[in-house]
Amino acid sequence: MTFTLPTDLHTRPVAIVGAGTLGRRIALMFTTRGGTVRIYDPVPAAGRAAQAYVEQNATDTAARIEGGKPGTATATTDLVEALAGAWLVIEAVPERLELKKRVFAELDAAADADAILASNSSSYPTSRFIDRVTRPERVLNMHFYMPPRQSAVDLMSSGRTDRAVLDLLLAELPHYGVFPFEAHRESTGFIFNRVWAAIKRESLSVVSEGVSTPQDIDAMWRINTGLPAGPFRAMDIVGLDVVLNIENHYAAENPALPAGPRELLKRYIDAGHLGVKTGRGFYDDYAEQD
Ligand code: NAD
Repeated sequence: MTFTLPTDLHTRPVAIVGAGTLGRRIALMFTTRGGTVRIYDPVPAAGRAAQAYVEQNATDTAARIEGGKPGTATATTDLVEALAGAWLVIEAVPERLELKKRVFAELDAAADADAILASNSSSYPTSRFIDRVTRPERVLNMHFYMPPRQSAVDLMSSGRTDRAVLDLLLAELPHYGVFPFEAHRESTGFIFNRVWAAIKRESLSVVSEGVSTPQDIDAMWRINTGLPAGPFRAMDIVGLDVVLNIENHYAAENPALPAGPRELLKRYIDAGHLGVKTGRGFYDDYAEQD
């Protein structure tokens, strides 16, 4: 089946499926040209919170983008209503493969025939969930980091994605203050996450081998890069359990990766020190969260 690219992009909405941490931030970026974003989430409170987040941040975010103007976001618990007329649908539901498969089948059935369907999944290539999709040419990974602050985006073909879909997004996304980079072949972790994983892994190795401490590595990082936080502070913020899950995922694919980084993380996790969320991780200067 051939795929016809969407047209009239600037008068059609973008739809975001899943209104959590990332969904609301992605929604915010697509309001920055003055248009409408629809947010679908089956949990009404999540949709409301996402809408409020966009309202609070739309003006400032649009002001940072050349030619930007704040638009609006509307949340709904009705998927068909959310998708109607949308030229681009971005899925940001929890990271469970079965759920992604089900959601993509639903999106494929309910979205306009020319709508592009993208997944924000951090770890699953879309090749893993197009088996129930009738038009796989329109499906791809569009992986955001933490917009609006970290607004680079990985684009990755499923292997069956129409080349024109990638080219359209590479040209169009910068208008929304989103900066796309294409992974030229399937890659777990896409582009920047793989580089960052290597930095975390080597930092953990240096500590697990007794060569240095988290505090000294972060101090050297700050001095030499000029960045405000080093890898250990960053891992504490993400959560050491999440960091371990990510590293386990890479290790499952590449058994040659060293075990030391995972063992060090596990020692902290076993002691209940998960980072900011438990009040202590590599650092112990966080107030305990309730
Ligand atoms: P989250 O748990 O904060 O939000 C998920 C939302 O999806 C919730 O509001 C939930 O109610 C909703 N949801 C559940 N089932 C749904 C369904 N069937 N249809 C629509 N919505 C549904 O999750 P998150 O951290 O925003 O992560 C979402 C996706 O983004 C994951 O695939 C994750 O890998 C990816 N991602 C997350 C981050 C991050 O730092 N959190 C970064 C990049 C990518």
